[in-house]
Amino acid sequence: MPTLVPDLVYRAGAFHPGLAVEVDAATGRITRLAPAAEVEAAAVTRLRDVALLPGFVNAHSHAFQRLIRGRTQWRPADDSASDFWSWREAMYHAALGMSPDDVYSVSRFCFLEMLRAGITTVGEFHYLHNDPAGRPYDDRAELARRVIAAARDVGIRISLLNVCYTTGAIGEALRHEQRRFGTPDVAEFVETAATLADDMDRDPLVTVGIAPHSVRAVPRDVIRALHDWSTRRRLPFHMHVSEQPAEVEACLAAYGRRPVEMLHDDGTLDERFTGIHATHITDDEVRMLARSGATVCACPTTERDLGDGILRAVDLVRAGGRIALGTDSQTVIDPLEDMRLVEYHERLQRLERVVITRAAVADRREPAPLLLDMATSVGARSLRLDAGALEGGMLADMVGVDLTHHTLAGWTPGTLASMITLSAPSDVISDVWVGGRHVVQDRQHAQQEEAMRGFIEVARALAGTA
Ligand SMILES: [Zn+2]
Repeated sequence: MPTLVPDLVYRAGAFHPGLAVEVDAATGRITRLAPAAEVEAAAVTRLRDVALLPGFVNAHSHAFQRLIRGRTQWRPADDSASDFWSWREAMYHAALGMSPDDVYSVSRFCFLEMLRAGITTVGEFHYLHNDPAGRPYDDRAELARRVIAAARDVGIRISLLNVCYTTGAIGEALRHEQRRFGTPDVAEFVETAATLADDMDRDPLVTVGIAPHSVRAVPRDVIRALHDWSTRRRLPFHMHVSEQPAEVEACLAAYGRRPVEMLHDDGTLDERFTGIHATHITDDEVRMLARSGATVCACPTTERDLGDGILRAVDLVRAGGRIALGTDSQTVIDPLEDMRLVEYHERLQRLERVVITRAAVADRREPAPLLLDMATSVGARSLRLDAGALEGGMLADMVGVDLTHHTLAGWTPGTLASMITLSAPSDVISDVWVGGRHVVQDRQHAQQEEAMRGFIEVARALAGTA
């Protein structure tokens, strides 16, 4: 592919003019960043009025949940509670009706929507395993393969996080509505995950990880065993953690420890560990997560929708912790919105402005560079990928921001990062490259209409049963 020369390149926390990005089409990686003046004009694609940034990494997604967008925004007539637990019942209903083809169609459209919002990698926390009756498919990884095919077809990079799910709550059998999620035979689950990892070994767009669903769905000894296994294979290890107070209480009652404390005691928190949500953690747990090198994946648009609570992002950052971002339930697919909510939720909570900052640059402390790291390099680290930065040797996953967009009018090199992260809609993203492939061009993806038709068909069928 030709060398790209945009107006600005985002690198090491700031925008720089005059840089060319050279990409090796064969490896899908950036060869080097060079002064634009040194690059031969014939081999160059000039990106006018474009700022190039690393592509966004969505570290936590359940693609099939795109199907229930809009379907849970109501409360029963008797005014009984609408919360995470009542939302979960609607999610179960959607999950139960989907055929493997439906899973493909919904995932494909969801991934396409992500690409258009600038997401170049998705960490897909995949827990739909069985057929609608709860029986395993002949190929235990049937639905995982459909999700991977959907990602590959639209050209998004995917880390398929195989989810282990064995109990309905701590010490309780799976409920009937959870029958599609169950992986009761842990040895078989591990074997399926290993086969999938081996099969995908040479696919440049696909990697695999392991994910005990939560302390609710996986017993303590199994979490430990899965962690040992993932350590031997050096795979990312993801898990929902402390999303709801009831989950913390159940963990305390069963194990005498809060979820993060328990994982800390068991040696599970480490550089490969990513805890999703962590919206209910103590000061001690903040320190445990930060010191262990673990990542916390915030999903602020989902946490806002579900009334989960607010991440203690300021405390985590001050303790040296790492925060990645995820779209989770797909209520909103907009990494810019997720970035800014981490900061804005804390402002509302603390009655203060400009709170998530680290080192000062030129007498200023700004949140924008940290928020961009969350959406790029920290997410890539959580999924063990060489992505999230525009540097030689890194995967050529990039987004182009349209500098002529009306919401960016008046930008300067000094204000652009703040405008993008704290004010702009995702519509400012006009172009997206994954592994050097130009998959979104001028806000269009080649499969847009066809993928949307496929999705609408599945959504209409679900409406008939809701
Ligand atoms: Zn989740």
